[in-house]
Amino acid sequence: MPMPLEGLHLLVTYRCNWECEHCFVWGGPDNESTMTLAQLTDVIDQAAQLGTVDHVYFEGGEPTLAYPVVLKAAAHARSRGLAVGLVTNCFWALDEQDAEVWLAPFAELGIFDLSVSTYPFFGLPDDAVAGSGGGSEEESGPAAPADATLLENAIRAARRLGIPVAALEVGAAADLSAVGLTCGDPDAIMYRGRAAVDLAPAVASRSPESLTTCPFEDLDAPQRAHLGADGELQVCQGLSAGNLWRAGLRSIVDAYDPHTRPVFRDLIAGGPIELARNCGLQPLRKLYADECHLCYELRERLRQRFPEVLVPDACYGPAAGATHDADHDDEAETGSAGDEASAGGPAPGRHSS
Ligand code: SF4
Repeated sequence: MPMPLEGLHLLVTYRCNWECEHCFVWGGPDNESTMTLAQLTDVIDQAAQLGTVDHVYFEGGEPTLAYPVVLKAAAHARSRGLAVGLVTNCFWALDEQDAEVWLAPFAELGIFDLSVSTYPFFGLPDDAVAGSGGGSEEESGPAAPADATLLENAIRAARRLGIPVAALEVGAAADLSAVGLTCGDPDAIMYRGRAAVDLAPAVASRSPESLTTCPFEDLDAPQRAHLGADGELQVCQGLSAGNLWRAGLRSIVDAYDPHTRPVFRDLIAGGPIELARNCGLQPLRKLYADECHLCYELRERLRQRFPEVLVPDACYGPAAGATHDADHDDEAETGSAGDEASAGGPAPGRHSS
């Protein structure tokens, strides 16, 4: 059955001015992969031609680091009949007047959603943020500010301009009562990417054997997918259904069969623990934070075995495959295909080591 794609999330850039610990695409100042206007318009044209996609989101990383390109691409998407959403950390909303200048062109385009990341709340002290592992700034890079001023400026400006606005809460409730925005229903942190490395070990409480589903993405019939400058159509971050630059969107969508595609089929059949069993890998930890934590560690180790599926590099961090986690030196892999040579990759690396 073709992939029933309705929304395309454009990872305009993996670069970000901040480097939040919970980020699952390793966003940060050093993650430079950024889409060109030509790539964005090509993807938008392919999405519009597909017939099932009705909206695109511009996100990242921080998409407004490529502000003029995003604006032009958003205008192109509107001209192709697609609804447009924008996800931003609002670093530019230094005061309400500035925020209005940044947002006015998007208001003229008629965007249907401005999602403001409440990630700045990860700048709060550890005990103020549920689920935070609280790594130091030295470990985790430039931290976002710990108050809501930027978000409040952006929200007030958006309201004046008539842009629908929502808070994107991850792991902790935001307090945007000063601007009357309903908060308090945060999404769970999904321990992928940097979150799997920096945050997950501190909250690990589940046995690998209990991780028998893929609970956060519909791999069977995905209605949304992410795509960056690398062209990989990611059903989950770092899990590609195919490369758009090589195959084209329609071809990937029409040929999508997750029950025969490596990694996908195991995750559907029995979650990350089934992926481990089927690939002959022993989980390296006794406890995991969630399904994504084990999934991410396994996928890191399997990247060389499945190089067309476990991409792009940007989603596996700056040290992916390059270092060995000393925490696990005493936990050897087992199983017929379980040695590092046959697994095709070293043990998970920690980007800060
Ligand atoms: S279990 Fe794996 S594929 Fe499923 S949502 Fe988590 S990281 Fe993505």
